[in-house]
Amino acid sequence: MTARIAIVEDEPELAALVADYARAAGYAADTYADGAVALDALRRAPPALVVLDLMLPGLDGLALCRALRADAAPALAELPVVMVTARVEEIDRLLGLDAGADDYLCKPFSPRELMARIRAILRRAQRASPAAPAAPTVDVDPAARRIAVHGAPLDLTPTEYGILAALARRPGQVFSRAQLLDLAREGNANLDATDRAIDSHVKNLRRKLDAVLPGVEAIHSIYGLGYRFDL
Ligand code: CA
Repeated sequence: MTARIAIVEDEPELAALVADYARAAGYAADTYADGAVALDALRRAPPALVVLDLMLPGLDGLALCRALRADAAPALAELPVVMVTARVEEIDRLLGLDAGADDYLCKPFSPRELMARIRAILRRAQRASPAAPAAPTVDVDPAARRIAVHGAPLDLTPTEYGILAALARRPGQVFSRAQLLDLAREGNANLDATDRAIDSHVKNLRRKLDAVLPGVEAIHSIYGLGYRFDL
């Protein structure tokens, strides 16, 4: 789904420029030149983020931001806001007033910089969202030679530990059987295994992982190459 950005800015050229950059970055964009009109529109259909000019006709950026923060609807109270001001001293004042914006930019700003900040805020917002299921965490403890999934330690043989530690440290990277064998030998010098034996260790690892992550395929077979870890 395309995230929608609202741009509240009474300088038409700047509003159009920011909207162009937002669309080029893959967002939908709506522009509003009046603070009161914007607040009304935001209430009717909350966007993913607001770029908010401070000095506006109708309702200024500070009042608009406070109205959002005071709203009973979480989609408005927690709506990410990037406040834009014409004077750098204004940012200090806004920070002092606890205006409630997530970020501040001073004009003239680079639209690229603005897009980078928008991306960062939306990423953070997504991570913090309770609706998004938490990704399984896999912790490798090399000192204890233990691996825990969601905090629960797996019961692994030394060879299984070596293989899973190697895979889990580089998610997404494909390892050949020979590479995994070499990596499993690190700190486990008397390991007696062959390339093909890796397959049976992987089979056992999958069974143990499935017990803690049912239905999640963590170790992927890459035909002709080897294995890759990905959750
Ligand atoms: Ca303005």
